Amino acid sequence: MAENNDKILSINHLQKSFGDHQVLRDISFNINKGEIVSIIGPSGGGKSTTLRCINLLEEPTGGEILFHGENVLEAGYDRNKFRSRVGMVFQQFDLFENKNVLQNCMIGQQLVLKRSKEEAERIALENLRKVGMEPFINAKPKQLSGGQQQRVAIARAISMNPEVLLFDEPTSALDPEMVGEVLDVMQKLATTGLTMVIVTHEMGFAKNVSDHVLFISDGIVTEEGAPEQIFDQPQNEKTQKFLRNFK
Ligand code: ADP
Ligand code: MG
Repeated sequence: MAENNDKILSINHLQKSFGDHQVLRDISFNINKGEIVSIIGPSGGGKSTTLRCINLLEEPTGGEILFHGENVLEAGYDRNKFRSRVGMVFQQFDLFENKNVLQNCMIGQQLVLKRSKEEAERIALENLRKVGMEPFINAKPKQLSGGQQQRVAIARAISMNPEVLLFDEPTSALDPEMVGEVLDVMQKLATTGLTMVIVTHEMGFAKNVSDHVLFISDGIVTEEGAPEQIFDQPQNEKTQKFLRNFK
């Protein structure tokens, strides 16, 4: 289990409003090196917005995001550098349709990290092998199943060597028979020391893989704790009600 002095990110009283609609009211939690944090909770509760604020796809309207102790929201902070340290895997894979699998895993490395073509290719192949997609390097995304596409998206994300990888319901868009292959890849990644924040409805997976679980509803961290505590002895009424629907 990660120690507190290995803190990578500290989310402090994060708030986000869209116009008059306050979506995030008070979100606080820490992400320690090597830790797997799962976020569960009802639809519309603010889970995606939390992730999108963390990697600055959305601009928070309040609070702090401390990355190694520095507030990334402060003027003058190098946001591009921060973004390149935080990866994201989306529900809808988001691959470049006109590029093949290998190219998909190389572009970001070349453009953002300025790696040579040779190095980018070597790293892409290494990671495509890890997710079992090496045999498909010449395929276009449309020729692949959803599960395969998501595994490519994961290989692409880890090819950028992120310090933290955020997953927003990575299996929700998949046919049921493909969920397992993606969860297997994620489970394997979790054992490599990669720091991961995972929004998921896969409760069994969250219970098995997580070091820490957050229950977010109505824009607040309603309850948090070790997986055994959240799943077996939830204290908050909302958590209890939510989890009953998964039994
Ligand atoms: P979750 O991921 O937990 O289902 P979201 O973070 O997607 O929840 O959404 C929380 C709330 O924020 C919802 O009411 C949603 O309609 C609203 N919301 C999310 N993104 C936007 C946006 N870009 N503009 C306006 N409202 C949004
Ligand atoms: Mg969501």
